[in-house]
Amino acid sequence: MEDADDLATALSAIKRAGELTKSLTQATSIEEVRNHAFDLQRQILSGQELLLAAIQHQAERLDRTHKLEERLAQVGEWTATKSRYRLKNVGLGAFIYAPEPGGTTGEPEHWLCARCFDNRQRSVLQYKGRAPYKQEHLYGCPNCNSTIRAPFASPGEQG
Ligand SMILES: [Zn+2]
Repeated sequence: MEDADDLATALSAIKRAGELTKSLTQATSIEEVRNHAFDLQRQILSGQELLLAAIQHQAERLDRTHKLEERLAQVGEWTATKSRYRLKNVGLGAFIYAPEPGGTTGEPEHWLCARCFDNRQRSVLQYKGRAPYKQEHLYGCPNCNSTIRAPFASPGEQG
């Protein structure tokens, strides 16, 4: 609405400038010419200012629309990614996100960091070996540096 108001006011200023041009050609005295010229200049400047404001508002609106479209695309992509995984307890109170059984991504078996996943980031846990003097397997998240302890290795590690 704001843009439409700016534009309508700008157009009426330009229309008024056109009428003043006609009056200018029909002026009969120098004083009349000066007055019409002054009004004409004022109308042109006003129209110019209003048009610039309308253009500015339009550019801001396009920018907001573009950002919303990008955000919507990101949400759509994440929703698709999220649907391919399920939360899984790997023991010792550790949770990871694993691909849904029978998934068709063509990716090798892997685990995702639950912390990063909940922040809409896909971070594949990296095997870091066994805990010293224990049978637990350690996995690290390269994104948030958290470590997961599991009593068994991920299907990817088991080959
Ligand atoms: Zn993480």
